[in-house]
Amino acid sequence: MDTLAIKSTLDISKIRKQFPVLNQQVNGKPLVYLDNAATNQKPQRVIDALTTYYEKDNANIHRGIHTLAERATKAYETTRHSMQAFIGAKHVEEIIFTRGVTESINLVASSYGRAFLKAGDEIIISGMEHHSNIVPWQLICEEKGALLKVIPVNDIGEIDFVAFQKLLSDKTKIVAVNHASNSLGTINPIKEIIASAHKSGAVVLIDGAQASAHLTFNVQELDCDFYCISSHKMYGPTGTGILYGKKELLEKMPPYMGGGEMIKEVTFAKTTYNDLPHKFEAGTPNIADVIALNEAIAFINELGKENIAAHEAELLAYTVEKLSTMPDITLIGTAKHKVSVQSFIIEGVHHFDIGQMLDARGIAVRTGHHCTQPLMDQFGIEGTVRASYSVYNTKAEVDQLAEGLERIIKFLK
Ligand code: PMP
Repeated sequence: MDTLAIKSTLDISKIRKQFPVLNQQVNGKPLVYLDNAATNQKPQRVIDALTTYYEKDNANIHRGIHTLAERATKAYETTRHSMQAFIGAKHVEEIIFTRGVTESINLVASSYGRAFLKAGDEIIISGMEHHSNIVPWQLICEEKGALLKVIPVNDIGEIDFVAFQKLLSDKTKIVAVNHASNSLGTINPIKEIIASAHKSGAVVLIDGAQASAHLTFNVQELDCDFYCISSHKMYGPTGTGILYGKKELLEKMPPYMGGGEMIKEVTFAKTTYNDLPHKFEAGTPNIADVIALNEAIAFINELGKENIAAHEAELLAYTVEKLSTMPDITLIGTAKHKVSVQSFIIEGVHHFDIGQMLDARGIAVRTGHHCTQPLMDQFGIEGTVRASYSVYNTKAEVDQLAEGLERIIKFLK
């Protein structure tokens, strides 16, 4: 979809009012929050859901028969149903609550990997993966004697699809790639990747950390086997997220952690495991945050993902227009299809210094390797400055970023 073809009709100033954190001064300047790929801000309704839960409903879920336990359980399970609809899962028990993308990937690597990988098997990831989609696979490869293969990424930050197809073979058991890159913003052709991987008999995990708040998708249409989401990157609280997995796969997989709720019956001789999704939700979960995530889903649904994407695409296009006229700035990540993330470097100036000087002007950006060190190595850099947008950002904020950068360059050069 060409998001620039759609004009955003959102009233951004009205939306901004729903985010109390935006209404503050940082270092004497109004906050300009452009670090949304790391975590985005929470609307009042999400914050209210957290306090309401603790003020009125706090109880442990599933096992209680008293009123509070029933209310908490109902609210927790409501989020599961909302998430099912949000991503288009076929069955509600395909939604497993985790701490977020990192835990979801570790769950699959550990549980699926331990059960089904053997020496000589291959796992394919891409060269633009977050460390959370590299290290869990390295751990299981080490344990099982499997091999990790990496799809090359070109100079503008796109996956080399031909090279990917060459890597695929009957040894490929898992393909794990991100839907959108956190350092470059590239939207990967995951539908094609999934179809090709399936032809080779591999299962596919999609890291959706940078997609869930920005891209419209349906897991059944994509036909991915696993899809991972972090709540805190989609206006929800930290410390929760989901693993979506196809029911037939999750049913075959052994539990990831042992403990309360994931059991049917425990004796010292043998334990039998609970049905999905509880088999993968050992221990008291992050009840309050899961409940508040429901409000984040509703917030996105009410605005409409297409509208959000259209607004963010305008911000990205405007950023590229502004920064590419500045001779000292080199943009990193200029793929054709992108979410609203723009990395850049300034020749001869360390990214940390730029970040600090922008912070002095109230502008929050991320600097560093963005947990994608191998990708930075490929570009021959230590890190970048990264501006990333959410629905509440404005063109005036992009202007402030550009103006801040101009002054920094003048000052330092
Ligand atoms: N993958 C990508 C692409 C990410 O951007 C992030 C967060 N920066 C993660 C994985 C890890 O997510 P979390 O820290 O929420 O587990």
